[in-house]
Amino acid sequence: MPGFEIFGDEERNSVLEVLETGVLFRYGFDQARKGRWKAKTFEAELAKRTGAKHCLLCSSGTAALSIALAACGAGAGDEVIVPPFTFIATIESVLNAGAVPVFSEIDETLCLNPDRLEAVLTSRTKAVLPVHMCGATARIDEIRHFCEKKGLILIEDACQSLGASFKGKAVGTFGQAGCFSFDAVKTVTCGEGGSIITNDDAIYLKADAYADHGHDHKGNDRGLEGHAILGANFRISELNAAIGCAQLKKLDFMLEKQRRHKKVIREAMSQFSEIAFRQLPDPEGDSATFLSFFLPDETKARAVSKALAAAGVDGCFYWYDNNWHYLRQWDHLKRFQAGAKLPIQMLDNCPDYSRTNLPQSDSIMGRTISMQIKLAWTEQELSQRIEKIRKVLGDFCHE
Ligand SMILES: *Cc1c(COP(=O)(O)O)cnc(C)c1O
Repeated sequence: MPGFEIFGDEERNSVLEVLETGVLFRYGFDQARKGRWKAKTFEAELAKRTGAKHCLLCSSGTAALSIALAACGAGAGDEVIVPPFTFIATIESVLNAGAVPVFSEIDETLCLNPDRLEAVLTSRTKAVLPVHMCGATARIDEIRHFCEKKGLILIEDACQSLGASFKGKAVGTFGQAGCFSFDAVKTVTCGEGGSIITNDDAIYLKADAYADHGHDHKGNDRGLEGHAILGANFRISELNAAIGCAQLKKLDFMLEKQRRHKKVIREAMSQFSEIAFRQLPDPEGDSATFLSFFLPDETKARAVSKALAAAGVDGCFYWYDNNWHYLRQWDHLKRFQAGAKLPIQMLDNCPDYSRTNLPQSDSIMGRTISMQIKLAWTEQELSQRIEKIRKVLGDFCHE
């Protein structure tokens, strides 16, 4: 997956172009910057690539989520439906907006199950925030349909799935706004960075202002700009944007490589009938950053995960025991009600997350292993890897 694997002269030269002018700020300084607009260029390129009308580059994926929630008008006291399998940033952004994350079950797509949303709907539900985890999409058309039917805002957390699509339509373009991350380990990296994309002019204008203290960015004199709304500072620097510009040009190369690597590993694993693969609503649109598969039960999944690591098959994740990506191990969130871990106590009536009960998600995550698909593998490394995987699975699984 990560773009840092192919960091090279293109990125270095792009940064040097900025260093030559010394204009590190993304706005203004029209003369001094000698025509170099890295953040603007990235935005135009990503909008084109995703088919979205607008793109705003910002300081992180978490910032993008915060901006999207603010620009869409989800805030204090609103409930936002989220999956329990994500990066904690999704949950943090909802809490930081003063809203209440409400967990709903995932299915074998490893993303929100559209059929279970109704069960957690209340009169306070304002938005649904599905996460396209590990490079592939949720059943996003059905989730969109549900949101339209119920009059809910749809914001997609596509931070892990740049380049993925559903039936030819890019992730992030199904609802009011979509969010990407370009942090150090994502498919395209800016070092730190994120973006929101939207087709809605009003949401874009709010997002653009909110990310920069409410500035309306009209005219050429920053000192004379108006402030339609209050905001914050979620700006990106030109240096980070410069890296992103070079990385984005490599996206097709990355996708092609990932898809090929994933395909051969998957084929080798298909000989084991006990192994099932993650459901992909549109296999063609998979960005192929991970190969996720299911073992018949939790005991076997844990054992296979250990054996893969012992055999030197690196980059395999058993999320159920991992404290980064699944609710089960988020003790800091479960203690949240007691005010232990959030520096500011913003909500009076936050749910007690230690009591959240998601049997379907537990059962799926307990059986799931995800294997990271690297770009830098040589043909030899790839075939040695497949040999090791075959051997481990042969010890545990029926053919
Ligand atoms: C990485 C990530 C984020 C946050 O991105 P940052 O740029 O690290 O703030 C949000 N959601 C998901 C699913 C992520 O993987």
